[in-house]
Amino acid sequence: MKLLIARPMTAVVEARARAEFDVEIRSDTLPLTHEEMLRSLTEFDVVVPTLGDQFSAQVFVEAPDPRCKLLANFGVGFNHIDVNAARTAGVEVTNTPGAVTDATADIAMTLLLSTARRAGEGERLVRAGDWQGWHPTQMLGHHVTGKRVGIVGMGRIGQAIARRCHFGFGMQVAYQSRSPKDLDFPADYFPDLAALAAAVEFLVLAVPGGVETRHLINAQVLEAMNPSGILVNIARGEVVDEAALIAALQSEQIAGAGLDVYEFEPAVPQALRDMDNVTLLPHLGTATEEVRSDMGHMALDNVAAFVAGRPLPNPV
Ligand code: NAP
Repeated sequence: MKLLIARPMTAVVEARARAEFDVEIRSDTLPLTHEEMLRSLTEFDVVVPTLGDQFSAQVFVEAPDPRCKLLANFGVGFNHIDVNAARTAGVEVTNTPGAVTDATADIAMTLLLSTARRAGEGERLVRAGDWQGWHPTQMLGHHVTGKRVGIVGMGRIGQAIARRCHFGFGMQVAYQSRSPKDLDFPADYFPDLAALAAAVEFLVLAVPGGVETRHLINAQVLEAMNPSGILVNIARGEVVDEAALIAALQSEQIAGAGLDVYEFEPAVPQALRDMDNVTLLPHLGTATEEVRSDMGHMALDNVAAFVAGRPLPNPV
């Protein structure tokens, strides 16, 4: 059984992979090229791909009847893999749900607080040596405690964000997802996204990427938001129409945005980089040693189950 891991992993995950499997661990941190994807499907039995590895329908057309039978994705989001095309080619797909939840919710709160309280802007001011000292109207931001937050996508991460907002910040939680949820904290369900956008101060996105959610946040939804509203996106870049977001920020239709992900990642438009009311992070959602190790172990657990002929723990 030959395994390909598409990126360097944490030391413990690499050590386990080398101990348990005949593995090739790619040293490049960039996504697999088209040729590398074809090689991965034809020369390996299992591949651990991740974000940016575009296993499109075309790749499976070019590698019919592949040797590879499992894509054990590193990450909960798998919108870079055409799962139907993979299945048709006889390739199963697994992911790493749960391991990422708390860390990603923490980054959502980082973005919400940083944008509302102008933390990035303040930090840049201090670093530039331009701070003139405290005064009662210096850098006034948006109050967070007790405000209304709208969560779009009340799944694992959405609920973890909602719990932080409710229990930690006394916020009123409202949400939208495909179906209402049975929750152990108060939260109002809004079936209509524009109505939710209009009702809250903070709109936080936690849906999966893919065709169904592409540009879910478009000009109409942004128009429905309050002028004091702040958009936070830790989901996937393509969920937001980035051009419409830039227009809404430039015309002060909304007050700010906190972004971990971008429509054409890793390209971040200059217009966003020029705005002080936007917090920009380089896709840090799960970026802690423990979480990346947990994700790696979960991916390898799926590989181990596949090799042993056991049911896959995390099929998508
Ligand atoms: P999850 O548990 O599957 O939750 C997804 C939620 O989105 C569900 O509540 C689902 O509603 C809802 N949803 C799906 N399609 C929708 C639609 N068209 N309209 C409205 N709601 C919709 O997934 P998760 O573990 O929370 O992860 C969510 C996403 O976060 C991942 O897919 C990934 O792309 C992203 N993520 C980002 C980072 C990062 O580093 N920034 C890290 C981890 C994950 P129902 O429950 O009603 O079906």
